[in-house]
Amino acid sequence: MKVTVIGYWHAFPKKGEAASGYLVEHDNYRVLVDCGSGVVSQLQHYCELEDLDAVVISHYHNDHIGDIGALHYFRLLTPYISQKAAKPFAVYGHQEDVQGFQRLSYKDVVNAIPYNENQTLDIGPFQFSFYKTSHPVPCYAMKIQTSASTLFYTADTGYMPELAEAAKGADLLIAECSLYKGQDGTPAGHMNSEEAGKLANAADVPALLLTHLPHFGDHGQLKKEAQAQCPSTIIDTASAGWSKTLST
Ligand SMILES: [Zn+2]
Ligand SMILES: [Zn+2]
Repeated sequence: MKVTVIGYWHAFPKKGEAASGYLVEHDNYRVLVDCGSGVVSQLQHYCELEDLDAVVISHYHNDHIGDIGALHYFRLLTPYISQKAAKPFAVYGHQEDVQGFQRLSYKDVVNAIPYNENQTLDIGPFQFSFYKTSHPVPCYAMKIQTSASTLFYTADTGYMPELAEAAKGADLLIAECSLYKGQDGTPAGHMNSEEAGKLANAADVPALLLTHLPHFGDHGQLKKEAQAQCPSTIIDTASAGWSKTLST
């Protein structure tokens, strides 16, 4: 599978960029994981909107769902403006926040499908598994698998050893890193660089991508602070268009 960073900013997007959004592709099937503010505009650098097959939302904070309405309107207008016939399309989310889940669907244009922690879900060629995180609102990390590769995305969370267990065996861990070493994100349900590195070390993953990055400081420092916790892991900090093809 191939993963591309569409947006990676904590809370709100920097000028010309986007908050959380990751395009995951395999066998000509495209899933957008999270759809934060600015994502629909930036996504079009990497994928025609007509070619998107599904969206999976981790939770209903605006930096993860803020642009879902733009996708609704795109699907509404597609029959009138696109040369291509619309493909089946669905948005997946949890139902622990009923109002949040209702934001996913739109008239008879976009259908919302629930996921939960207790069952894996086949979405195109991918198998998704979900793990509750430590966050002020219900939020799910996800493991995304094909027969050849595994991606693990923490979504928003404070440090949790359980997530390291769940991420074991992943080819790439995409971990949120909202703060620098020494800053305590636990009450807000976020990790700092040291905790993200600790998570990667405990999960024993070969590669770590730090994302959901703060609007202050030097992101290069985040990488150094995480690397100190897991010397043998290849670490990158997210940037727009960062991309990696995973295979075993
Ligand atoms: Zn959040
Ligand atoms: Zn967030």
